[in-house]
Amino acid sequence: MKRLILILAVLLMLSGTAGAENFQILTTFYPMYILTQNVAGGIDGVQVTNMAEQTVGCLHDYTLQTRDMVLLEEADALVINGGGMEQFMDRVAGAQADLPVIDASQGIEMEPSIEEGLLNAHVWLDPQLAMVQIQNIASGLAGADPAHAEQYRSNAETYIGRLKSLDEEMAEALRPLAGKEIITFHEAFNYLARRYGLVVAGVIANEPGEEPSTRDIAETCDLVARLGIKTLFIEPQYSPTAAKIIAGETGASMYVLDPCVSGNGSPESYEQIQRENVRVLREAFGQ
Ligand SMILES: [Zn+2]
Repeated sequence: MKRLILILAVLLMLSGTAGAENFQILTTFYPMYILTQNVAGGIDGVQVTNMAEQTVGCLHDYTLQTRDMVLLEEADALVINGGGMEQFMDRVAGAQADLPVIDASQGIEMEPSIEEGLLNAHVWLDPQLAMVQIQNIASGLAGADPAHAEQYRSNAETYIGRLKSLDEEMAEALRPLAGKEIITFHEAFNYLARRYGLVVAGVIANEPGEEPSTRDIAETCDLVARLGIKTLFIEPQYSPTAAKIIAGETGASMYVLDPCVSGNGSPESYEQIQRENVRVLREAFGQ
């Protein structure tokens, strides 16, 4: 208990040094952090901080940490992915009821998730939907912090311009792969696949936080054999154990696709990761 109080005191001291006159934007996880950095980064008097830095992977099943509660207390606006990705939102309301929450996925129609009753919220991996998220973030921030509205809007426009080039580049590079069936680690790549004409035939993990069961693994082996699939796409944030077993059983090879939920934090990170994903997809299909 004493240790906890000490940690809390240190955290409060650290967060106190950030400067009270700053507009503090908090993002829930890596893709929202990168998108928001591009909209709000480098503006005088505006600070962007990412919440779930201690986690790797998506926010599925993430529970708020002490550090997050401190950051929430300090925040002037919170940017979330939405679509149920942040299942801890009821606790956010408990921490700071009047905090402006910007839902980056507002207006985006989501597909149902494999997990019953949930939505597949991985829309950021489709660059065109990421552009919608950038617009939502910019107008949300403009509303919450009118003093910097112009800068948010013009930064968003610049970033959207970059993602338009990325989208054209991806469409061109993935055109020869249209109709190809892929098996991914979890349901992160459905929107990307849909955009560029690939087909997600199955996933290795129905619940990314848990190791796939023996039964799940057997079912994926059957699917790989039935469809004649030659490659499995694993993710750097999750254990390759199950994929290795499936690869061993079926003779399929493994490649790494990155759902952009962790990285080096640079504003170009999303584009870098997507370009690498395209390179990997092409390589996996012998392009
Ligand atoms: Zn996910």
